[in-house]
Amino acid sequence: MPHELPKGLSPETLAIVMGRDHSPGAPSNQPPVLASSFREGGDSLYTRLGNPTWSAFEDALGALEGGRCLAFASGMAAGVAVLDGLPLGAKVVAPTASYLGVRDVLREMEDEGRLRVRLIDVSDTGATLAAVADADMLWLESPTNPMLDIADIERLSAGAREAGATVVVDNTFATPLLQRPLDLGANIVLHSVSKFISGHSDLVMGALVTRDDAIYERFELHRKHRGAIPGPFEVYLALRGLRTLSVRLEKGQASARVLAERLEEHSSVQRAIYPGLPSHPDHELCTKQMEGPGAMVSFEMADAAAADTACARTRLIGTMTSLGGIETTMERRTRWAGEENTPQGLVRMSVGCENVEDLWRDLHQALG
Ligand SMILES: *Cc1c(COP(=O)(O)O)cnc(C)c1O
Repeated sequence: MPHELPKGLSPETLAIVMGRDHSPGAPSNQPPVLASSFREGGDSLYTRLGNPTWSAFEDALGALEGGRCLAFASGMAAGVAVLDGLPLGAKVVAPTASYLGVRDVLREMEDEGRLRVRLIDVSDTGATLAAVADADMLWLESPTNPMLDIADIERLSAGAREAGATVVVDNTFATPLLQRPLDLGANIVLHSVSKFISGHSDLVMGALVTRDDAIYERFELHRKHRGAIPGPFEVYLALRGLRTLSVRLEKGQASARVLAERLEEHSSVQRAIYPGLPSHPDHELCTKQMEGPGAMVSFEMADAAAADTACARTRLIGTMTSLGGIETTMERRTRWAGEENTPQGLVRMSVGCENVEDLWRDLHQALG
């Protein structure tokens, strides 16, 4: 008889128990299966088509998001799989402030005449609903990068559904422990597994999750034919990281709150942006929609020079891009081309698992 887990397990437990072989004698962890091909007669044939290491990871992340998961080579590979499936000339509504790579691809596809793209402030529910009325896809990110605006996923998904548009939510910043977009009415969840899910800044990987079998099959075919597959070793590491997601996220989130409150009071900081602060314009929506405001904090300094000086002065906090690792990092966002809508002095910080007083001392001396 197959092993049966108790019903109604909480997400933090699912992250630990899912994706394991519970049969007698099985290793307690799914090992990385480093093989391109498999002997005939079993479920696996060739690793571009599927690999047992993927299945273990996909079972775990799928259970957390409440759908069926497919692992991809990167978050961007997952995003391109979504956009490639749209018919020629389809209209996509997407956030003005969002992950740069996604906006770049949208612009490329628009320039090539493949898609029509409308960028909008997705925290403005009325304007977004109006834009989506004749759209084929609504692409959401919430909280958004790097301004940490919150989109009302439930209301926007209901409006999009009425208009016949597919809703994609990039859930990278929130993770399924803080927000479950499929429960709120979205059709597809995207993850850059490179960030909080894996959590150690040691790999690049992506994932898609959906409850719709037709969408799942289309993405699976895309992965098989376009070859955007993750290496089994990366997937092994990602699953190892996912096991500790709840402790990492809880710690980062608790410290993020403390740092955001102190940044808000600091004389060199013009504005601290954190959805957990009552001063955040979407604070109420965040409280309703999310289990917690997350571990990302942004703050605005007077200008680019002030922000650069602060970043250069940190000794504990690393100045680098990317996010979601156990180590705290920060960067001035407008050093990247394409972030022209972001304030010049905006610093985005990903809060990790170091001692919060060590982090504050470093920040405090860096801010001067
Ligand atoms: C990093 C990131 C991506 C892209 O993922 P990669 O794994 O780097 O390809 C997409 N969305 C968000 C919100 C991200 O932070």
